[in-house]
Amino acid sequence: MLIVMHQSATKEHIDKVVKAIESRNYQARPLPGGERVAIGVLYNKGAVDASMFSGMPGVKDVIAVTRPYKLVSRELKHDDTVIQVGNVKIGGNHFVIMAGPCAIESEDQALTIAEQVVKKGAQIFRGGAYKPRTSPYSFQGLGEEGLKIMARVREKTGMPVITEVMDLQTFDVVEAYADIVQIGTRNMQNFSLLRRAGQSKKPVFLKRGMAATIDEWLMAAEYILEGGNTNVILCERGVRTFVNHSRNTLDISAVPVVKQESHLPIIMDPSHAGGHREQVIPLSRASVAVGAHGLMVEVHHDPDNAMSDGAQSLYPDQFEHLCKQVHAIRQAMNPDMGSQKK
Ligand code: PEP
Ligand code: MN
Repeated sequence: MLIVMHQSATKEHIDKVVKAIESRNYQARPLPGGERVAIGVLYNKGAVDASMFSGMPGVKDVIAVTRPYKLVSRELKHDDTVIQVGNVKIGGNHFVIMAGPCAIESEDQALTIAEQVVKKGAQIFRGGAYKPRTSPYSFQGLGEEGLKIMARVREKTGMPVITEVMDLQTFDVVEAYADIVQIGTRNMQNFSLLRRAGQSKKPVFLKRGMAATIDEWLMAAEYILEGGNTNVILCERGVRTFVNHSRNTLDISAVPVVKQESHLPIIMDPSHAGGHREQVIPLSRASVAVGAHGLMVEVHHDPDNAMSDGAQSLYPDQFEHLCKQVHAIRQAMNPDMGSQKK
């Protein structure tokens, strides 16, 4: 249930409603909006009697929340969530491009790629230090050394950095270095990891599980918000289907559905969806056109010798084309839209 307060409601009015909720052994979550405060009621086992709150001073409306997810839902928070990372804004009318290699391989490799992508249109640098690999014999990432390299990339280029956390043991160290903590597709329903992410002060980038429904994905995000971290960015990276012409199938329709259901930003990852370099630019164009809040793209200066995901990594020049096309499409869709292009 959601209790919407009048614009003129005072702090005392809000506190009284919170107390009334808590006295019934529910939890109250005040959610400041653009114009008025709304208060979410959580942990109610069944329906809550609206009349208990509707007559209280300052209360404008009492609305039943019909979805299983609450804090992530647009029913509870109407305005888009906009997350600030350094100088970059993610969500709302902002569009962000994150780019970099699949894995951090060396300082030289990371800096070479970062200097290219920042020049060509990226605002955030991506790279894996702890890599979830299908084979135990494949390169597993440089671990903390990779995180240190990312910190140097941030220092030299000014770009905030995003990197994946794979487990509870390494959460603290990843969180210490990263500007955004990524939870990958294989961990979307790792509930202890989600709970730990809920305690983090860093924004969390939650990739959709490769076989997860949108409800399951939003419920996973709900764990993080329920833990107290409201800065969650969703990422669609393709789901498993019967096809073999692409690595996964990018679920384009997830974007309008998620935007209708949730106030959280949604970013598309055309690289892990397509799995082949030649699919990445067309899928990026489609992602922009369908209304995603940004892209995460793998780029490598020498993809033939990349230690992971070379086949889907763009050359820096291709990345530049991608950025130009993306901005042209955005401009055509809404000439008044703000651009973060430097
Ligand atoms: C990645 O972004 O490096 C990654 C492993 O992605 P996913 O979890 O989508 O496979
Ligand atoms: Mn990859």
